Amino acid sequence: MAGEARPPFSPRPAAPRFTALAPAPLSGFTRPLARLIDQFERLPGIGPRTAQRLALHLLRQPEEQIRAFAEALLAARSQVGQCRRCFHLSAEPLCDICRNTERQTGQICVVADSRDLLAMERTREYRGGYHVLGGLISPMEGVGPEGLHIQTLVERVDQENASEVILALTPSVEGDTTSLYLARLLKPFTIVSRIAYGLPMGSELEYADEVTLARAFEGRRRMD
Ligand SMILES: [Zn+2]
Repeated sequence: MAGEARPPFSPRPAAPRFTALAPAPLSGFTRPLARLIDQFERLPGIGPRTAQRLALHLLRQPEEQIRAFAEALLAARSQVGQCRRCFHLSAEPLCDICRNTERQTGQICVVADSRDLLAMERTREYRGGYHVLGGLISPMEGVGPEGLHIQTLVERVDQENASEVILALTPSVEGDTTSLYLARLLKPFTIVSRIAYGLPMGSELEYADEVTLARAFEGRRRMD
């Protein structure tokens, strides 16, 4: 009934009961703008209001700025791949961490994805190498060990003669399953430890504050 004039004696406009159910009514936005807002809304953590604010903000920027933004998006998408040793995001064959000769070799910290690696880096506690699994074992979602970078981890432990593998996986069913699997697989070759969480079950590594994560790292326990 949008656009229809309200009856003159209606005491108060009725609350728009059904607006929440409608799929993002973008009335009042010209099509290219609605399209831009829609793109922002697809991003994680961005609701309709933030999407509108970002889109309107961008519209006010000079064209060079917008072009730089668009080019950065495309360049990141086309140039960033995976480090061939640790599978962290990298535009080079080897990532910054793997190329850094000041980092101790011998220790490999295993994380589920690059976000968790970055969380560990923020603590500034750890100076060894990493190995990004690319997920966690999850029978529910049909992810088995062969779908993760586990074989390459075993090869690295052997080739690099690793003295310790530190498992930094989320405290969840999937994190526990993966940790137990890796411990069983790697224990004949090296020391396997797991970081001790002061975190409740299911919490995400990337959201842990630096102090908590640093403490969890320091308090890591050897897996038997
Ligand atoms: Zn790397």
